[in-house]
Amino acid sequence: MNILLTGCQGQVGWELQRTLAPLGEVHGFDRSGLDLGDPDAIRRVVRGVVPELIVNAAAYTSVDKAEVEADQAMAINAVAPGVLAEEARRGGAAIVHYSTDYVFDGEKEGPYVEDDAPRPLGAYGRSKLAGEEAVRASGAPHLILRTSWVYGARGRNFLLTMLRLARERDELRVVDDQFGAPTWSRMIAQATVLALARCPWRGAGPDLFAASGTYHLSAEGRTSWHGFARAILERTAALEPGALRARRVVAIGSADYPTPAARPRNSVLSNAKLRRAFGIALPAWEDSLGRCLEDAVHAG
Ligand code: NDP
Repeated sequence: MNILLTGCQGQVGWELQRTLAPLGEVHGFDRSGLDLGDPDAIRRVVRGVVPELIVNAAAYTSVDKAEVEADQAMAINAVAPGVLAEEARRGGAAIVHYSTDYVFDGEKEGPYVEDDAPRPLGAYGRSKLAGEEAVRASGAPHLILRTSWVYGARGRNFLLTMLRLARERDELRVVDDQFGAPTWSRMIAQATVLALARCPWRGAGPDLFAASGTYHLSAEGRTSWHGFARAILERTAALEPGALRARRVVAIGSADYPTPAARPRNSVLSNAKLRRAFGIALPAWEDSLGRCLEDAVHAG
């Protein structure tokens, strides 16, 4: 099976490049090989690869910059997934597309389920919601996987930022009134491949119609950014005594850390639908964090 993977140098895409390999021949594209801002290039590349499965891990992910580059965010996060999905339908392929907890406004008490009404607070969330709608409207068999608070041992993410700051400073100040589930990029890739392997297959390509739809896919449990930062420092100190300078993580409110884009107060996603459909449950966020840090330490 030919698999076309976009964003292969991103946090999730980099992991997917490896975890998808047992399913077929992975044709990975980064921005230099396929600029998603160019719909003609998307059509050309898809028609060249002739995939049976498209996995779109590329996205415009700069939440704050999107407030001033809303058109660009829309082009990458909404128009491009729509073109990819139309090409999937045209070629008889299925598409996996990632979305975000930021499609919600965070006002709900308790975990969000897939049917909860989206109401993004910013341009990034609006562009991702429009991308979901474009994929659904295409008629291609699809899995839209909404995840949250993605981190890993490479790329741009909160974990690596905290580790860098903790080496430079005595004290970190981190927001304690936004709640979510930090999710390891490797777990996202592994759960994606498991879901694909458990989809019914027919003929030459994956028949995802029975399972086609939107699913939440995030680590279990919940914490605040402050709780996540504390866990990062504590576990790193246990693995590498003396590696960090910071001794304290001070809890602050969102009001003390203003950002151009507003963030949802509650980002927790319920994974119950994913569990029911595919028998998949991601581990608790603390377990994955421990494994990711061990991995990073052993890798050097
Ligand atoms: P990353 O930002 O790590 O990776 C995104 C990739 O997309 C980058 O490699 C980037 O390339 C590429 N990209 C951006 N613009 C273009 C373009 N015009 N053409 C081609 N490639 C482009 O994202 P993640 O791996 O963290 O995110 C994966 C998915 O998960 C996305 O759909 C995201 O919206 C979603 N998600 C992410 C969350 C997070 O916390 N990061 C939270 C919830 C959902 P380059 O480096 O060159 O810009």
